[in-house]
Amino acid sequence: MVDQVFVDDTIKKLIEKYRVIWAIGHAQALMGWDSETYMPREGAKERSVARAELSVLSQQLVLRPELVELLEEAKKKVDSLNPYEKGVVRVLDRAVTQLKKLPPEHVYEYTKVTGEAVHVWVEAKQKSDFSKFKPYLEKIVDLARKTAEYLGYEKHPYNALLDIYEEGLTIDDMDRVFDAIIPHSKKVLEKVLSDGYYPSQHPLEKVSYDREKMEKVNKEILDLLGFPWDRARLDVSPHPFTVNMGVKDVRITTRYEGINFKHTIYSVIHEFGHALYELQVDEKLAMTPIAGGVSLGVHESQSRFWENIVGRSMPFVTLMKPILDKYLDFTREYSAEEIYRYVNTVRPSLIRVEADEVTYNFHIYLRYEIEKKLITGELNVDEVPVEWNNMMEKLLGIRPRNDAEGVLQDIHWSHGTIGYFPTYTLGNVIAAQIKQTIESKEKLEELLSQGTEGITRLKDELRKLVHMWGSTYPPKELIKIATGEEVNPEYFNQYLSSKYLK
Ligand code: MG
Repeated sequence: MVDQVFVDDTIKKLIEKYRVIWAIGHAQALMGWDSETYMPREGAKERSVARAELSVLSQQLVLRPELVELLEEAKKKVDSLNPYEKGVVRVLDRAVTQLKKLPPEHVYEYTKVTGEAVHVWVEAKQKSDFSKFKPYLEKIVDLARKTAEYLGYEKHPYNALLDIYEEGLTIDDMDRVFDAIIPHSKKVLEKVLSDGYYPSQHPLEKVSYDREKMEKVNKEILDLLGFPWDRARLDVSPHPFTVNMGVKDVRITTRYEGINFKHTIYSVIHEFGHALYELQVDEKLAMTPIAGGVSLGVHESQSRFWENIVGRSMPFVTLMKPILDKYLDFTREYSAEEIYRYVNTVRPSLIRVEADEVTYNFHIYLRYEIEKKLITGELNVDEVPVEWNNMMEKLLGIRPRNDAEGVLQDIHWSHGTIGYFPTYTLGNVIAAQIKQTIESKEKLEELLSQGTEGITRLKDELRKLVHMWGSTYPPKELIKIATGEEVNPEYFNQYLSSKYLK
């Protein structure tokens, strides 16, 4: 089967050599999923050793001389290769180059510091005390600067970090995105707040639900979306996520807080979007270096597309309403339009993960500006809490009362992932651009009002535009092929205008 897309002999040999690395990734994905779902708590220590050992082994296998030699051979004839084969070369070359540039002592130190930092962050957040986390953030920023120096960059060290999470992404790209969407989102927010159609609070936010009933709701919503239960699962974890073991084994999770049911439903729809991307990668690419989704930004575009653009639209709420009413007695007294207003409340809030689609990108912009300044040393770590609170007040007119509501709210920095946040906004922007492309053929509203049949067609469109390619093309090229132009933030502005300024 593989022969249909991979014809070059060197590439075939490379893919064969790669298979053991894929297998380790497969095992690690399964171990990661298990750690968050069913593993007994006391298993954590041995599991983390097992995962760390496998990571080291996998890196060694990537740098095997026979694999690197084959890669060099393939690079010499890259112009004569087909797009899939070029993709294999690009992805492996990126991995080899990164691993070669980062000294093992640096990687070891990074793993050790972030391993401790996560626990310190948990405690600091509980006590709402930034001073506890501060020495770790200092070490992490210092390590991130070193990472940037080792990897190399043009213009700005933060570019090296952005590229880790989103191949080819630069400060110039993100500045262009934020310059376009922040002022416009401000205008939209002002209008929404003065206008009142989209409420800032809704009584349904205070209503408790029965977990077993909500599990049935989530399953039926996934049925409505055509979730393939023979290739995918839904489980429960403290933080919802998606993981794929392969194109035929993709797993998502949600959580049940017992109150404000939109949280669990929309995290299911969000993760469904991530899962669908992996499930619709061309089977012929399975077990190769280009088998998975290409980047965090493109992945987030798919989850946001389903969560917000589809899930929070009136036609989808209308499709979902009978499922809600079947199991939840408290939705029956509300009209579909009222449920639509409940799932689309808009208000300035302090916590990123609770933010609506109008205010969400302000939270990312704040983190982006702080991270850039931390990396150059323009901002010191001890100045971050005040800078955070000042920016929050400037952007959304509200001020955190303590560190837990401000600088300590996200786990990301304790993981050492500086440069990751911008991919969330990039995802929102790409999602709107893809909507625009799909709507050049047929309006989303019309597709969704056809129910299952329309949803199937929509999934097929996304498969052809984005999913089937896996990592064949780098993200920027994929967006250009899929939508006919480079990432263009104006589509996000248009999306917000058409939904909120009507
Ligand atoms: Mg996501």
